[in-house]
Amino acid sequence: MNELQELLDEFTTNPLTTITRDNGVSEQVPTMSLLERLEDAKTRGLKSSGGTAGGAKIPVNASAYDIEADMIRTIHTTASVHDRYTLASLPLGERLRYWALRVDESLAVAWCRYWKGVILSLDASDMYIRGACPHCGDTEYIEARDGEMIRKDALVATVTQLNEGTHVGVVCLVCAHEWNGLDEVMKVAGSLSTNADCVLECLVVGD
Ligand SMILES: [Zn+2]
Repeated sequence: MNELQELLDEFTTNPLTTITRDNGVSEQVPTMSLLERLEDAKTRGLKSSGGTAGGAKIPVNASAYDIEADMIRTIHTTASVHDRYTLASLPLGERLRYWALRVDESLAVAWCRYWKGVILSLDASDMYIRGACPHCGDTEYIEARDGEMIRKDALVATVTQLNEGTHVGVVCLVCAHEWNGLDEVMKVAGSLSTNADCVLECLVVGD
């Protein structure tokens, strides 16, 4: 497979990653595609640190919107006039593929590499943790997107790059309770008999 095809697949398909459970059993689990990461970053404001205690998080990530707008604009302006009408009617994943296979290949590769990089830099290390939130008791967060109800685990581990270094935390998408710093995160993990350990391993490795 050539580089362009590989890049396009990364945008739209879910790669499998191997996790190892407490009992030593390894399991292959799907992870988010690049476009899912982008969508996720748009709808969750997890990159914003701090916030007021008990206040609702404002789920907007401006840079994710900027990336999406850049993709749409670039695709539109570099496509042939003839293709623009078709492109505009396609969802972003199909639009990217349709466009990339019709423009100069080196141009498509360069843009895809660039977008991949900026998407990965958004919130590459957010990971969902199975189990009930120790604060509100909920296990699932249900999000309405394009008329569909999407179920996600309520707890998500976050890694944020701040000026002073890497910050790890866990946030509940339902009640917005946050646990900040490795000690607090370990406490949450300890109260859950879930995949928290392997998520934390990833966090620490990524540190
Ligand atoms: Zn909660």
